[in-house]
This record gives sequence, C-alpha cells and structure tokens, in this order.
Amino acid sequence: MSVLDIQSLTKDFGPQTVLQGLNLHVAEGEFVSLLGPSGSGKSTVFHLIGGLLQPNHGTIYLDGENINGQTGSISYMPQSPSLFPWRTIIENVILGAELFGKPDKEKAKQMLQRAGLGDYIDAYPAELSGGMRQRAAFVRSLLSPQSFICLDEPFSALDEFTRVDMQKWLLSIWEEERPSVLFVTHNIEEAIFLSDRILVLSEKPANVMEEINVTFDRPRSEDVMLTNDFIA
Ligand code: ADP
Ligand code: MG
Repeated sequence: MSVLDIQSLTKDFGPQTVLQGLNLHVAEGEFVSLLGPSGSGKSTVFHLIGGLLQPNHGTIYLDGENINGQTGSISYMPQSPSLFPWRTIIENVILGAELFGKPDKEKAKQMLQRAGLGDYIDAYPAELSGGMRQRAAFVRSLLSPQSFICLDEPFSALDEFTRVDMQKWLLSIWEEERPSVLFVTHNIEEAIFLSDRILVLSEKPANVMEEINVTFDRPRSEDVMLTNDFIA
C-alpha cells in the first residue's frame, strides 16, 4: 500500500500550469528520488505535500487521509531552509520536535555531532557556513517525529566529501528505521546511491511524470568507504 498517494495533481500559478495531472506514489519504507530540470516543479510538489500550497485539482493522500492544504503531516526540509537567527543551533534543530511534544535534546546533540556540528551546538546560525546551516536543517528534519520525510536538495551546498558522508549517514538511518523518503536532487549518482526508485519530472509537455523504473543493485551504507575511513 502507498503511504503517499498523489492523484491527478494540477497546480497553476496564474496563467502558468506547473503541474498537470501528476500521479505519484511512495510505498511504506520506500526511498524515492525525484529528478527533473530546474523549474519543472519539484519544489512545488513538496510545497503541495507540505500543505504550504493548495492544488487546483487533485488530491494528496497520506496514510489514506486527504492532506490537501494541511501542514505538519510530514517532515520537510525545504530547498532553502531557514534557521531562526535568534535561536542557537540546538534550539533550531529541536523546533520541529518541540511542536509535537518533548524534544530529545541528547539525541539532537548526538545527531549534530554526527553531522559535524559538535562544536556549534550552542552557536548562532550567523556563525556557521552555508554548508553547516544546511546540515543543521537536515538534522532538524531528521528529528521531526513524522515518518514521511521530504528532502529538497538537502546536500546541494556541501563539498563533495561532506556530501558523501551525509549520504552514507542518511542511508544508514534509512536502513535502520525505514522511514518513507521523497528526495529531490540534481545529482544522478546520489539518486542511484540512495533510491529504490527514481522518478523524473519532465518540463514538457506540461510536466508529465515519467516513471523511470531503474533496477539496480544499490550499495549498502556499510559497503561505502570514505577516504577518512582509512585514516587511523
Ligand atoms: P524546481 O524545484 O523543479 O526547480 P519549482 O517548483 O521551484 O521548480 O518551480 C516550478 C515553476 O513554478 C517555476 O517556473 C517557478 O517560477 C514557478 N513557481 C514556483 N513557485 C511559485 C509561486 N509561489 N508563484 C509563482 N510561480 C511559482
Ligand atoms: Mg526546487
């Protein structure tokens, strides 16, 4: 059964039809990547799933429930995530969890450490580089209690080494906890490394989804070696 079931979704911005009759399904525990050229509507799909926009037509079901226009159903890392400048990094990353109950500060600290931000737990966002802020936002999305995670180009600001490290971490979390993930990236290697399935949103005609069923043997996280795994 699909956890996420998007049926005939259409979204117009004024005269521009960005999505037309989009169908998209994600099964429970599945990792699906969404590719497509810039401007093809990937982030718009996420805004609709996250309830930040209302579709013109169509329905988004999560666990069988219509969530059109409903916020707070999924964990969502936007393409340009913002951190509150007056809150420290730890205060920022537990925000999502705070909305849904008591956040686990110890877990948050451990995750920040794993993200390479151990020295910045009590720092303010302005003290961090763009890549560090992106990792903080990534940790925030992982700490949200929802089991469906949408990540919109979460590693775009990272250097190659850090990016591979974060991919490896995400894959190990996915293997352990089996969240359902919808992941947007421009990096095809990244999509192949992480995904069960890769979908491509085409720009024309009018953003019809091409489902590319790629069957491949994906490496497991433990098979991936980083150069610093060899450094004693
Ligand atoms: P992608 O994430 O694939 O690069 P987007 O979903 O950000 O694409 O944008 C798809 C198209 O929709 C673009 O042409 C963009 O300009 C337009 N668009 C996105 N959001 C809005 C908005 N809030 N108002 C008007 N146009 C928008
Ligand atoms: Mg986008």
